[in-house]
Amino acid sequence: MNDTTASKPVLPGREADSGSSQAPGPAPSRAPSQGQSPLDILGLGSAELADAAALRLPKGSGLAGTIYSRAFATGRIETEGLGLSAATEAAWKERFGVGLLAVRRVVEEEGEFGSTSKALLGTADGLGVECVRIPMPPAPGGAARSTLCLSSQVGCRMACAFCETGAGGLTRDLRAAEIVAQVLTTRILLGWDCNNIVFMGMGEPLDNLDEVARAIRVLMDRRGLSYGAERITVCSSCPPGGVARLRDLGLKRLNLSISLNGGLDATRSALMPVNRARGLDDLADELAAYSQRRNFVLAANYCLLPGLNDGIEEARGVAAFAARVGRVLVNLIPYNPGSTPLSRAPTEEEIERFTGWLEAGGCHVRRRTRKGASIMAACGQLRAGDRPA
Ligand code: SF4
Repeated sequence: MNDTTASKPVLPGREADSGSSQAPGPAPSRAPSQGQSPLDILGLGSAELADAAALRLPKGSGLAGTIYSRAFATGRIETEGLGLSAATEAAWKERFGVGLLAVRRVVEEEGEFGSTSKALLGTADGLGVECVRIPMPPAPGGAARSTLCLSSQVGCRMACAFCETGAGGLTRDLRAAEIVAQVLTTRILLGWDCNNIVFMGMGEPLDNLDEVARAIRVLMDRRGLSYGAERITVCSSCPPGGVARLRDLGLKRLNLSISLNGGLDATRSALMPVNRARGLDDLADELAAYSQRRNFVLAANYCLLPGLNDGIEEARGVAAFAARVGRVLVNLIPYNPGSTPLSRAPTEEEIERFTGWLEAGGCHVRRRTRKGASIMAACGQLRAGDRPA
């Protein structure tokens, strides 16, 4: 574990509660002269900014595309060089803002493909949100790749037994702009340029789907960050009806992964109370209906907890579940004991035994490495945001 806070300066973004300085984050958001709050561009698509600018500024929509692209490149409202009068430049900066988050702390852990980094970011109302950069195996040709794990809520109300975030309950949903701000803040202030996005941090994304869906649309905007849907994954515990609502968004290339963690209803319900409302058979049927493209593969994450969900009956249950869903890849994740351990980390022998049972049942299995365990950045270990930072 390497706490980089000591060696790298903490670079503040906007932070209403602290009165901290702004550079090199966004321009300060001042109260607009007409009694309107400044609109945070990070919660808008470029077309929406054009509409909003048309309403708020004379001839505003004509420059909206340029200002939008600049905002996502620099984290500021930049009007320089556009031939605007000083009054119009000031009006843009009064009426629109870029709500970067404050960087409070960064910790890193070295691994095989580079460092796993966890950032604690501060919202304008003083809450903490964690996101994690996870290095991936290099692409063919050697280019480094990484995935950014985003939070969708401060805390979570799903109360999964193994999860540090769930232990504190839900504080509040994150707004779309705050979700997008995790990407832009870490990109601009920390230099993280991640290839992929996964909603697997604090919170249940399908419990905040309206804001998550808006954030995904903003992340995909070609004038902004331009992530393809195939580079974005929503990871869910699957509250009832959530997967169907996600499908209704019509994003055919969006990836979906689920937290499975039990092959028997009794086990999954004990570990994940969300399962009590709707069992594995019904969940499998909902997931079977999710697929919107021929090559879709559902990733089912299975955190292996010795003595709790590593028996042969569980493996058989997982195999039956996968067969009912269709094309499934089981991501087997060795449990990371957190601050209040539910179990211990599985041994290699236990991992291989469970993998063998799954494969004998016809499952495709991928062993996930334990990235970020020492910095509490691994599966189920994000929690700082459930309390004021
Ligand atoms: S594992 Fe995910 S859904 Fe479950 S409590 Fe934690 S954050 Fe919520």
